[in-house]
Amino acid sequence: MEHGSPSGSLEPLIAELVSDSSLTAYVQNLIHQKPLLIQFRPDLEHCFYAKRTQEFSLIFRIASALWLLLFVTVILGTWFNFSYIFKDEGYVIWQSTFAFTALSLVMLTACAYLPKTHGFIHHYVVAPIVTLLLYQLLVGSLAYPDGKFNIYASYNMIIIMVIAIFSLRLLWQKTIIIIASASLMAAATVFVNDWQMMTLQFLHAFVLIGVVLLSIAFFVERRERLSFLHEILLAIKSSELVRINAHLGTIAREDALSGLANRRAFDDCLEVEWDRARREEQPLALLFIDVDHFKLYNDTYGHAAGDDCLRQVGQAMKKALLRPADTVARYGGEEFVILLPCTDALGAEEVAERVMRAIDILAIPHKRSLVAFHVTASIGICNITPHEHHTISAFLENADAALYKAKASGRHCFKHYQEPPQKMKFNFQG
Ligand code: GH3
Ligand code: MG
Ligand code: MG
Repeated sequence: MEHGSPSGSLEPLIAELVSDSSLTAYVQNLIHQKPLLIQFRPDLEHCFYAKRTQEFSLIFRIASALWLLLFVTVILGTWFNFSYIFKDEGYVIWQSTFAFTALSLVMLTACAYLPKTHGFIHHYVVAPIVTLLLYQLLVGSLAYPDGKFNIYASYNMIIIMVIAIFSLRLLWQKTIIIIASASLMAAATVFVNDWQMMTLQFLHAFVLIGVVLLSIAFFVERRERLSFLHEILLAIKSSELVRINAHLGTIAREDALSGLANRRAFDDCLEVEWDRARREEQPLALLFIDVDHFKLYNDTYGHAAGDDCLRQVGQAMKKALLRPADTVARYGGEEFVILLPCTDALGAEEVAERVMRAIDILAIPHKRSLVAFHVTASIGICNITPHEHHTISAFLENADAALYKAKASGRHCFKHYQEPPQKMKFNFQG
């Protein structure tokens, strides 16, 4: 059941878990059923274990300094009042208890700070605690068989158990090991003391406390497992939300039929490029493209064929653009726009020719077209190097006017708003 827990953040572990689509139903089912003994499937258990280990590390980093301080205080107190314990050879059990406690505290603190040891932390923790319990009983029973010190030994045992079970984030199975070891030791103590009544009472009290501690540990862990499930469910939901938002963001800016940018995305793009061109005093070109006699196409081949035609024309135009900064969008109906940053009139003309050729190459039959036997398009070109007194709406109107010129001159051609190399005059506002 146990896995090496990774150090550092839990987020990558949770992200990996959440990417598994079968997890939602599994987690929801467990939350719904709320079994008494909640056991997770291995990947979830691994994550839960890692979370507990991380909590242990955090708690111990905060608490270890306090425990070391407490230990030093006890040592100093003993030294001033009972210094013979440290000097006389007869007190070797006391001496070794102090030495072992110091070693355990230092070792656990080191573990809390060394993420590499976290995978084995629960083993490290159980061994010194069990040994400490043993020392306490040896001190209490063997060193002082008259039972005088048993009460202190028992108090110490209870304190060690409480600390071990609740602050070290042990899973409840490990709690059983500690309580079982302590019970055996307590029984051994009673045995060594010839089943004296006094010791028997301690044993009863001790077993009772052990059972209470174990029950609390079990139910605390169960509650934590349930809240962990809710945490995972929340992570699943929020990752779904991120995915849905990303998808919504895409479809809000994408034309569903052609897969090109839609008008909203184009308007945003035009605004950004317009500002950039004005700042950098760079030329900007706009192509308005309209499919010729498309109403006739629809009437002849049907609306579905019309949709397919628009899709093909859109993709052909996209492929005809070579620079990453060039943007093609469906402006509405059978009208498309192409925005070409840093492009002058001649460059725009080159792109218009390429776009017309790409549509011609598709050779989509259009028997009722009045200009060719296949689907064709007309293009209006407008160029500008934007200045303060220019406006985006006039830029768009001029491109549309150029398209009207192309339509008027027989379609299946492109026309400039103002023929190059003539200098363009923009004296309109708004
Ligand atoms: P012109 O050569 O002057 O541009 O003539 P036209 O027939 O292409 O222009 P008109 O504006 O008269 O008709 C455009 C047609 O495009 C009318 C409309 O049914 C069709 N259309 C607009 N959007 C769509 C669409 O999404 N799918 C289909 N299949 N047809 C569309
Ligand atoms: Mg039109
Ligand atoms: Mg048209």
